[in-house]
Amino acid sequence: MDYKKYIKIVENWPKEGIQFKDITPLMDNGKAFKSAVDEIVEFAKEKEIDIIVGPEARGFIIGCPVSYALEIGFAPVRKEGKLPREVIKVDYGLEYGSNRLTIHKDAIKPGQRVLITDDLLATGGTIEATIKLVEELGGIVAGCAFLIELTYLDGREKLDGYDVLTLMQY
Ligand code: AMP
Repeated sequence: MDYKKYIKIVENWPKEGIQFKDITPLMDNGKAFKSAVDEIVEFAKEKEIDIIVGPEARGFIIGCPVSYALEIGFAPVRKEGKLPREVIKVDYGLEYGSNRLTIHKDAIKPGQRVLITDDLLATGGTIEATIKLVEELGGIVAGCAFLIELTYLDGREKLDGYDVLTLMQY
């Protein structure tokens, strides 16, 4: 399926110089959204995934339907102060400043095979931080799946050695 026709490109949002890839028209089209999720479900089946992990907020949108389809769990990665129980944390650099992500300490059992999902791979900083959290808990990152990859930002370099699926490339 040609998913790109369901992605709206918004120039200079949220700030000057950024070409924002809006996935909401894809989510709005039931057939296109299902087809994209189904491709990730097939990838997850091949990798024999035990649990899905996704960073807020769009990692939930992609990961939760995959976990539902496979009848496996979903563990959220969230910004600091959002998860109610004991967490582990990781800091990572953004273009300006830094960010901290957290996951519940008991979200993953050692040896579980994990698929990490997000809507878009840009610089790879978010996914690299999410991988650190999963691995610190003893999870095995068996794959990472995204709807979109911005190839010019070289996020894949941070994912060297991991199995990466992206459905669209810009
Ligand atoms: P990064 O950590 O640089 O790989 O950024 C990934 C996160 O930022 C993803 O969760 C995306 O939702 C968001 N993001 C970064 N760049 C864009 C963009 N051009 N359009 C839409 N979302 C973006």
